[in-house]
Amino acid sequence: MPEPTVKMTPMFEQYMRIKEDYPDALLFYRMGDFYELFFDDAATAARELQIALTSRSRDTANPVPMCGVPWHAAQTYIAQLVDKGYSIAICEQTEDPRAAKGLVQRAVTRVITPGTVLDDANLSAGSHTYLGAVFFEEDSGRKEGMGAFVWADISTGQWSGVEFRKAVDIWQWVQKIAPRELVLAESQSAPPANLLEGVRFVRLPDQHFDLRRSTERVLAAQGVQEPAALGLGGKNALMRACGGILAYLEQTQKCSPSQLQPFRPLNLGKRLLIDEMTERNLEIFRRLNGRKGKGTLRHVVDATVTPMGGRLLEDMLRHPWRDAAVIARIQDAVAFLHDDDMRREALREALRHVYDIERLSTRITLNRAMPRDFLALGNSLAALPGVLQSLTAPSDTTYATEARQNGDHLPPALSEIVRRWDGFDDCAELLARAIVDAPPAVITDGGLFRPGYDEELDAILDLVEHGEQKLQALLEKEQKTTGIAKLKLGYNRVFGYYYEVSRAAYAGPMPDHFIRRQTLANAERFTTPELKSLEEDILSAAERRKTLEYSLFQQLRARMAAQRERLVHMADMLAHLDYWQSLAHVGRRNGWCRPVLDGSADLDIRDGRHPVVEAMIGAGSFVPNSVTLDGKRRLCLLTGPNMAGKSTVLRQVAIICLLAQMGSMVPASSAVIGMTDKIFSRVGASDNLAQGQSTFMVEMMETARILRQATRRSLIILDEIGRGTSTYDGVALAWAVVEDLASRSNGELRTLFATHYHELTALEGQVPGVFTMNIAIREHNNDILFLHKLVPGPADRSYGVEVARLAGVPASVVQRARAILAELERGKDGRRPPEPRMTAVPLPGLSLPSPAGPPPQEKAVPHISALPPQGEHPLVRLLRDVDPDSLTPLEALRLISQWHKLWAEDPADPATPPPLEGIDDISPEEVRHE
Ligand code: ADP
Repeated sequence: MPEPTVKMTPMFEQYMRIKEDYPDALLFYRMGDFYELFFDDAATAARELQIALTSRSRDTANPVPMCGVPWHAAQTYIAQLVDKGYSIAICEQTEDPRAAKGLVQRAVTRVITPGTVLDDANLSAGSHTYLGAVFFEEDSGRKEGMGAFVWADISTGQWSGVEFRKAVDIWQWVQKIAPRELVLAESQSAPPANLLEGVRFVRLPDQHFDLRRSTERVLAAQGVQEPAALGLGGKNALMRACGGILAYLEQTQKCSPSQLQPFRPLNLGKRLLIDEMTERNLEIFRRLNGRKGKGTLRHVVDATVTPMGGRLLEDMLRHPWRDAAVIARIQDAVAFLHDDDMRREALREALRHVYDIERLSTRITLNRAMPRDFLALGNSLAALPGVLQSLTAPSDTTYATEARQNGDHLPPALSEIVRRWDGFDDCAELLARAIVDAPPAVITDGGLFRPGYDEELDAILDLVEHGEQKLQALLEKEQKTTGIAKLKLGYNRVFGYYYEVSRAAYAGPMPDHFIRRQTLANAERFTTPELKSLEEDILSAAERRKTLEYSLFQQLRARMAAQRERLVHMADMLAHLDYWQSLAHVGRRNGWCRPVLDGSADLDIRDGRHPVVEAMIGAGSFVPNSVTLDGKRRLCLLTGPNMAGKSTVLRQVAIICLLAQMGSMVPASSAVIGMTDKIFSRVGASDNLAQGQSTFMVEMMETARILRQATRRSLIILDEIGRGTSTYDGVALAWAVVEDLASRSNGELRTLFATHYHELTALEGQVPGVFTMNIAIREHNNDILFLHKLVPGPADRSYGVEVARLAGVPASVVQRARAILAELERGKDGRRPPEPRMTAVPLPGLSLPSPAGPPPQEKAVPHISALPPQGEHPLVRLLRDVDPDSLTPLEALRLISQWHKLWAEDPADPATPPPLEGIDDISPEEVRHE
């Protein structure tokens, strides 16, 4: 803000008045051919744009910081600032400076903000940029109430939203959708601190979220009579969030947001819900290190060729379907395109010529389109016949032959596209006739239209381009009619064009229509009405051309803007076509199969692969694995050393389910998948610590959320949960979580649980539905070989030292670690180490902590008295070797299970097992108090 001593010229007064209304935006103040910024705005822009900061005032004691950018280059600068999270208020001259009396009138014509950008420079072609709004009304101080989150892609006009009773659910969605800007009511309580990163918050007065005002606004903007027409009937919170978003759009766009498509609330009942944490852990859009692109699921499955298809794919990855009929329809279309390589290639080729019809149409509707946008639209529309042709061409694939027998050539989804196809011949023809091949960047320069488009323009262009020739023709005509062969044509600034006759050449009288303009010493100069008129035409042609082209451009724009609904409809169909062909293409390229989806709670994936890991290490190197979950085997405990491939198997199961419910083919030889309603994927704290944000607390909060939100149809992937705390806490928590999950919903919940707590494998056989798998390792000459093969049963040990050696830990440290390990395993008095197998099946009579019982405790095993040394069962020797003082309860349990196994396996001893005194009557209470 200016110092009070800055002299307030009328211009600065105007500037200050305007700036007052936009305190949070950088004000781009138009002065002639520049946008100027002043005071703090100037300092900020100069710093961010690396441009010179100068001073406006000549008063060196009170300089006014200033910087500026030329108007024709402003777009690039604005894009840079918006990218950095700034908002820009564009203040234009709203009257012709030549006509202005005194100071030119100015006003802000629009505000460009990170969530409302339309310029391609700020948008990523295949991704959405969202503006969000949250409304939450707490129910008299309770944590529950009613709230909604609405998100809108202003560049495409798509908008949607969800309602929830709990604020925490709303914030979870905000995190998932990740809008660039979030609109909130002033009185709305602040969002959780971890949400603040990367989101620009906008506070609007509460009245903009008022129900009545919001309803009026929404109905007016959408041109409907009833909220129910938009799925907003009775959804007051959703309506109020919509109202907030519209209010903000009106403030920034300075016009009614006419580009918005009909609002469509997201029907959560029909979607597979994947929360933000799961999205992150499965590396769907970003790798764990935050990077997009290679190494993400999206990168592997995206073979779309249009921006619309890319965005639809993004939507589908974000919330796949949970509606068997919808999925089957997509699968049919995908299978059809999968089987017919020629057709798919033709379709892909045709779609490559289709640009972003959706965003082009938005810019045209909002009058923000540049001439090149019309060219792009014209070319896109011209490509439509090729797209249709690729669908309707005859085919001889199996599908097509069968379908023909049923009287239809195409699967239902594709035949619906053909039925609802809009060829846009009228607009394609118009644009092809109108716009030149290489139009100028801006409208005001002219040079936009083709010859033949408009008669008047043609005449003007003819003059501009052929003015000299016309003058020459006129001269020749006059030479003929006058008979003066030496009549010449000249030009000067005072008289314009004139005919000149030298006295030497002709001294006789001139015809009547020759009007004398000037007499020189040896020549006379004349004009004629015809010459005068031609001269006026020529001199004004350039100006008239610009004006006429501008008005023709506006007419063309209006005609195209009127096609918004048709264009959006076509964009939607093209997006789907592109999405389906992409799924087909990826499936075909990678040899995937079509999964069978059913209503069961089972899962049977044969030879499944992790598509991203496979893409990274090469198709031939990946070891496929099969996973089956059914009525008897619901919760898989997966053990194996680090680097064996546990996380990979876990994630590949989740990804295969997700892909299947997108309608995609899946990386497996076959897959039968009971449809899931939610997928939860969590990684233990220690695995996430590299990101510096995951603590044990977060891990437990996440676990709590899963336990709260999972339903009988959910799929849960837990990777090393419980590792972020001490061993006993960790194992106890993991244990209790497994028990809880296994006993849920009649055991229908599907869980894969990777853990290095071998103790947990004891739950197999104890808790119904729990079973163990491990990933095979081959040991050879002290070396370990990761086979990456999933096999039944628990792993024998953790191979941590070997993994450390493979990782390059110095040999001396590895050797020392081995020695310490051996020492630890042997126990302090150097007796024989326990058997490597750590399966823990309890002895009869000794119950593991029951689901409701206490977690395992330390120092809880009672002393076992020695048995006679002679003719003794091997078990007795083992028992004697035990040093109870150094045993933890869990080790004791493990030992007991080994003994039990040994006992059961030893056919040499026909005797019934002798009772082991002091063991079979341990009660949980004693365990706790010992
Ligand atoms: P863990 O979770 O057991 O520590 P990961 O799942 O992270 O192991 O796998 C470690 C590495 O092993 C992966 O990055 C990948 O390179 C490789 N890998 C995992 N599974 C397979 C497989 N099935 N086939 C081939 N390589 C695999």
